[in-house]
Amino acid sequence: MIQRPRGTQDFPPEQMAKRRFVENSMRVTFKSFGYSEVQTPTFEHLELFTAKSGEGIVDELYAFKDKGGRDLALRPELTAPVIRMYVEKLQMDPKPLKFFYFGNCFRYDRPQKGRYREFMQAGCELIGCDSPAALAELVALAWVLLKNVGLKNIVLRIGNLDFISRVLDNLNIKEEVRKKLFPFIDKKQFDELEVFMRKEGFSGEQIGSLLGFLNCSDVDEVKGFVDDDNLIKPFEEMLSLLPTFGIEKYMVDTSIVRGLDYYKGMVFEIEVPALGAEKQLCGGGAYDLVPLFGGKQVSTAGFAVGFDRTVVALENEGYSFPEERLRAYVVPIDNDSLPYALKVTMKCRELKIPVDVDLTGRSIAKSLKYANSRKAENVVIIGERERETNTVTVKNMETGEQKNVTIGELLNVLKG
Ligand code: AMP
Repeated sequence: MIQRPRGTQDFPPEQMAKRRFVENSMRVTFKSFGYSEVQTPTFEHLELFTAKSGEGIVDELYAFKDKGGRDLALRPELTAPVIRMYVEKLQMDPKPLKFFYFGNCFRYDRPQKGRYREFMQAGCELIGCDSPAALAELVALAWVLLKNVGLKNIVLRIGNLDFISRVLDNLNIKEEVRKKLFPFIDKKQFDELEVFMRKEGFSGEQIGSLLGFLNCSDVDEVKGFVDDDNLIKPFEEMLSLLPTFGIEKYMVDTSIVRGLDYYKGMVFEIEVPALGAEKQLCGGGAYDLVPLFGGKQVSTAGFAVGFDRTVVALENEGYSFPEERLRAYVVPIDNDSLPYALKVTMKCRELKIPVDVDLTGRSIAKSLKYANSRKAENVVIIGERERETNTVTVKNMETGEQKNVTIGELLNVLKG
């Protein structure tokens, strides 16, 4: 038996219906914030991803040479591809540009619950406006997107990479050393961070200062470490707008680092406690990629939501997804009734009513059983009597009630 590759997923109909339901909800929300959908290729030049993250990233990618010897990679995320598309053909478009996307991503991760090698992201990029209000709207979009799909308990944390950069500057911590500190900070392993800094020869004062900053939980505390209104004021203004955009609750978290490679300024993350260990659902912020890809400097910000995790989170929170059901299952009782049954079926289909028809010629009892397994709401029975009177017999599968009606009446019932 050939099995699916490690870290990939199959989606049987029930699962797929949930995914499409979530996707549709997200699409409606993105559009309600003035975003337009875009799509980019599944594979890109490897360079697109190494340019941003360095050669080290190749180990985490599905990278390969094609038959022409080109170095390519399956995309591990969609920000770099969307910005590549912008630089390639959309730079002259009026700003701000607001793009959203759904796309499968590929990472050579160690598979576990909630962590796959092929997974889907939903996300967006905002190009050409980084006012406090624009950034507040972006964070609000992430919040509303997840609230609108039906998640009850989401936790939003907002930080700013300019703050930590300033603190590290003040402490005279060099670039190479910063890179080593970030993994500890990213995982909130502050004890391990302290041990590491001691080993590296940092003074108690330096360590205390960094840890003090990382534990800040509001802007006033941050002001004790970052004495620069040019950094603090826009951030404060953005935060002050969040309630107007409908955000009920958030935390300031100065320890969000999100791989400092290309993020800068405001950053945020959303977690769902119901997800357990892999609880991070969304990450984003302001970043700088356009010049790296040869474009003219412009402000950019965005976020990505783990789509698969969103569905799991809803399931874990006990969300009741709407069931996708057949409105009717049409059963010709004998072979002579088949053409009439097909006519009725196709009339329903013209009105886009989801129906199916028995083409196996099996007994009515078996057809009823099958209709039950398909969760059909109604069964339409067609025999000699119905043919002769130009009617159908419709059985409501929930109440068991059975009626003889005209085709017109049937269509009205099924449309309703
Ligand atoms: P990132 O691009 O790493 O910031 O990821 C954005 C979101 O995608 C994360 O918050 C996760 O919800 C989701 N995600 C990242 N990696 C995986 C993975 N291997 N499997 C499933 N979801 C993932």
